[in-house]
Amino acid sequence: MPELAKNLKPLLSAQQIQQRIQELAHEIRRDYAEKHPVLVGVLKGAFMFLADLVRELRFPLQCDFLKISSYGQQTESSGQISLQLDTTIPLTGRHVLVVEDIVDTGLTTAWLLEHLQKKSPASLRVCALLDKPARRRVEVPLDYVGFRIPNRFVVGYGIDCAEAYRELDYIGYLADQEENS
Ligand code: 5GP
Repeated sequence: MPELAKNLKPLLSAQQIQQRIQELAHEIRRDYAEKHPVLVGVLKGAFMFLADLVRELRFPLQCDFLKISSYGQQTESSGQISLQLDTTIPLTGRHVLVVEDIVDTGLTTAWLLEHLQKKSPASLRVCALLDKPARRRVEVPLDYVGFRIPNRFVVGYGIDCAEAYRELDYIGYLADQEENS
C-alpha cells in the first residue's frame, strides 16, 4: 500500500475505483457495444477515469475531449462556465457519452449537455465517476455513476486542487475540508 499524500484523508482506494470501473464498463458495454459511440472526456479532471474506462470497454469507440473553465484554486463553483476546448469529431448522428469526474451543483453538466445537444447527436448520456448530490442546484440526468460521495472537496485520480494530486491512483479529501456546507 503506497503512502498516502500528506494532508489527505482517504475516501476511495485504487482497488475500489478499479472494481467500480469494471462494473460501469459492464453496463456501458451492454448499452453501447454495437453503437460505435464517441466518449467525450471533460478535461482535465476526467482524463484518468476515461483512460481506465475505455480500456475496460473493449469494443470499438472513439474518444474526444472538451475543456471548460474550472474552479482554479477555489473549492466552490463560480457558476461561470466557459469553453476552452471543443470536440473535433463531428457528433451529428453519433451516440455520445460524456465522461465527467464530478457532478456537484450540476451547472457544468447542464451547460455541457446544452452545448453538445446543439451538435445533433443520435443520443447523449452522462457517465460521472463521482456524484455529490448534496449541493445540486440544477437537476441533471446521470446515466452512469461511479460513487455517490459526501459533500467534501476531493482530489486524486485525475482530480486536482490547484493542479496538485492528479497523479494519485486513489481519491481523498483535504484534511482541513471536513463536511462543506
Ligand atoms: P458543478 O458545476 O457540478 O458544480 O461542478 C463540476 C466541476 O467542479 C467538476 O467537474 C470538478 O471539476 C469541479 N469540482 C466539483 N467538486 C469538486 C471537488 O470536490 N474537488 C475538485 N477538485 N473539483 C470539484
